[in-house]
Amino acid sequence: MKKEYKCPTCRSTISVDDINVSSDIALCRSCGNSYAFSLINSSADISEDTLNSVPRGIKLKQSFNGGVNIVYHRLSPAVFFLIPFTALWSGLSMTGIYGTQIKKGTFNLAESLFGLPFLIGTIVLLSIILFCLFGKVVVSLNQGVGSVFTGVGTLGWTRHFSYDKHTLVSLKRTNVRVNNVQQVGISITNDSSKLIFGTMLKKDAKEFIAASIMKATGRF
Ligand SMILES: [Zn+2]
Repeated sequence: MKKEYKCPTCRSTISVDDINVSSDIALCRSCGNSYAFSLINSSADISEDTLNSVPRGIKLKQSFNGGVNIVYHRLSPAVFFLIPFTALWSGLSMTGIYGTQIKKGTFNLAESLFGLPFLIGTIVLLSIILFCLFGKVVVSLNQGVGSVFTGVGTLGWTRHFSYDKHTLVSLKRTNVRVNNVQQVGISITNDSSKLIFGTMLKKDAKEFIAASIMKATGRF
């Protein structure tokens, strides 16, 4: 399929003659705006067709006031390694260091201090396991106000953004690397603000969410 480049503002097709890759400029003849070609190129991967099928791990929920919540949850295969690893590592260190003290009913300061890194490690590992099992990313879109929640249950981290027909949505390479490969994130750019999220999501989920935001901006 030939890639079609569209103007981020008016969605007119930009002719290849109006694109200069080396100087990274693309000109839209319809509305007269010019853009960085790299930006238009990264938006070109977002298509309305993506919305025809909901990818694995994504659930759509209508919110009571007419908005939509896109909930992403997918079991990470890492848990199949993490659970036995944590059980062994934490189990041994915790019973060895604290278990013996509790059993004897004595408190040993040196031993307890020595055990602290293992205790912290255990807490970190358990949090990662909890996130792998129950963690979710929720993108809410409601009349120009959007948010991205990352966490478990109600515990987590929320970032906010706004969107309208001038908002640029693209799939962009980020500084997050997995096995030394730069991961793509969903980028939302307004005049004064910029948000990138979702680098850890599966590719089809990123494309679906990016297309949903694009649709919410009224661009499709
Ligand atoms: Zn245009």
